[in-house]
Amino acid sequence: MCLNMICGSMYSGKSTELLRRYERNKYAKRKALLFNHSLDKRYGENVVATHLQDQEKSHSISTVYQMLSILHDHKEIKNVYIDEFQFFPNEFADAVIFLVEKENYSITVAGLDLTFDNKPFKSMEKLMPYADEILKLKAVCCECGKNASKSYRLTSSKQKVEVGSNDSYIALCKKCYNKIYK
Ligand code: ADP
Ligand code: MG
Ligand code: ZN
Repeated sequence: MCLNMICGSMYSGKSTELLRRYERNKYAKRKALLFNHSLDKRYGENVVATHLQDQEKSHSISTVYQMLSILHDHKEIKNVYIDEFQFFPNEFADAVIFLVEKENYSITVAGLDLTFDNKPFKSMEKLMPYADEILKLKAVCCECGKNASKSYRLTSSKQKVEVGSNDSYIALCKKCYNKIYK
């Protein structure tokens, strides 16, 4: 029915905004389901957490079959929130598009739009043209204090996926990223 996306760099407040939207359902006694990717164990399993340590219980999953099976067990709930969407495979994005366009689901996803080396995350890219609303959040550049849209990796790993936080990533604006990233 409706696809909303929350995107931006690390520390831009994506999980905070996702949890805010998820939590407000309970004031209307409207049921909702919250998912996170099982790779994200930074603040424990089966939770969506922010860097400020606010957290909510969630379903930790990694495949589309796991999500569909949980949705099947809660057929009456059509309101779904998914964090760390960049970690899910492309077929997961296809399933989200199908659920929204054909099955009357309202789905809100939060995720990084860019990798540490400034390339789009595929599942986010795939979803974007189907979104009804896209919110782009910014962090604060750790070098100059301007709005930051890049996640700069402090470690030497070249892996696309390397789950970490303050110890391994900082947020930078375009100018500072270009100065520092070689
Ligand atoms: P995301 O899910 O986008 O990584 P979170 O919602 O988990 O972001 O966390 C956002 C919080 O991170 C901010 O409210 C702030 O307390 C903290 N934070 C740490 N570093 C920064 C930064 N460089 N810019 C903005 N917020 C930061
Ligand atoms: Mg987050
Ligand atoms: Zn900067």
